Amino acid sequence: MSAPCLEIDLAALEHNTRVLVDRLAPQGIGVTAVTKAALGSPEVARAMLRGGAGGLGDSRVENLARLRGVDLGPRTLIRSPMLSQVEHVVRAADVSLNTEAAVLRALSAAAVGVGRTHSVVLMVELGDLREGIAADDVIDAASAVDALPGLQLVGLGTNLACQCGVVPDQHKMDELSRLVEQVEAACGSALSVISGGNSANLDWALAAADVGRVNDLRLGEAILLGTEPLHRRPIDGLRTDVFTLTAEVIEVKCKPAQPWGDLGQTAFGAQPARTGTGTVRQAIFALGRQDVDPDGLSVPAGMSVLGMSSDHLVVDVGDHDLPVGASVGFALNYSALVRAMTSPFVTQHVG
Ligand SMILES: *Cc1c(COP(=O)(O)O)cnc(C)c1O
Repeated sequence: MSAPCLEIDLAALEHNTRVLVDRLAPQGIGVTAVTKAALGSPEVARAMLRGGAGGLGDSRVENLARLRGVDLGPRTLIRSPMLSQVEHVVRAADVSLNTEAAVLRALSAAAVGVGRTHSVVLMVELGDLREGIAADDVIDAASAVDALPGLQLVGLGTNLACQCGVVPDQHKMDELSRLVEQVEAACGSALSVISGGNSANLDWALAAADVGRVNDLRLGEAILLGTEPLHRRPIDGLRTDVFTLTAEVIEVKCKPAQPWGDLGQTAFGAQPARTGTGTVRQAIFALGRQDVDPDGLSVPAGMSVLGMSSDHLVVDVGDHDLPVGASVGFALNYSALVRAMTSPFVTQHVG
């Protein structure tokens, strides 16, 4: 096995999906499992579907295309389509989340061109200031979709917490439900997908006395890492060890705790000053910023990170007796996971 390697525990992934699906079901909420941090991995997608996810979502049409063989439940493009990709979108996705009239017109033409009906969820801006149509404009936008051939308006959605950290609460979700009823009244047909948000919605969704019309959440981080994104706390009953990044030691030596000579900038700007005196047992791992975000890497107990450049992770290994060639597993946060998944140097091992 070539290092560095990202180990993916599919049983843990399936477990996390099932726990969340089972907890949300009594609230009438289904799960669209988001595969984007896993680069649309078909193995990851299948484990999520085995765990009970009702469909798959990804922000990249290329990832959805990778999932073409995994045809259980709808595939949703969860980022507004690029105008330049609409034909690819109607081929690779059954549903897309949308906010722009020009994109919807192009999607309509593309859907007609390939002889398909493409489903549309309109995203509503509720204060986090990323994607979304102003609440006042939603009815007009919905009527416009209704008038376009090849498109079917299936629902409304919103996304909070990602850009400004705005918390999805009862007030925000009630507003979404109210807009659903207004659109249904104006368009004369029922909406079937009310997509309340992402993993940050879980606290609200599991505790709410009344979830209103919300019947879907798009969950990535909670399934993949077992954490909720508002406070980055582990979710009770979920596995936080789905992913482990294994790297190999290429040098181990006792070195002075402090550098010597005049100090300027490092390869990546100012580094925190080294603390400590005497000597440290320092290991270098063949792992760098090209492979992982160092701020999102957790080292095993008794070790601490001294620095990371493009290709070298330097760790104070304390009392650990690590020879050259030894492998060590590191836990990852969301940012570290995304980088590891997209590094061409990191291999994957699915088990
Ligand atoms: C990434 C994303 C999600 C999933 O977010 P998590 O916090 O990983 O659950 C949901 N919806 C949209 C629009 C996204 O971009």
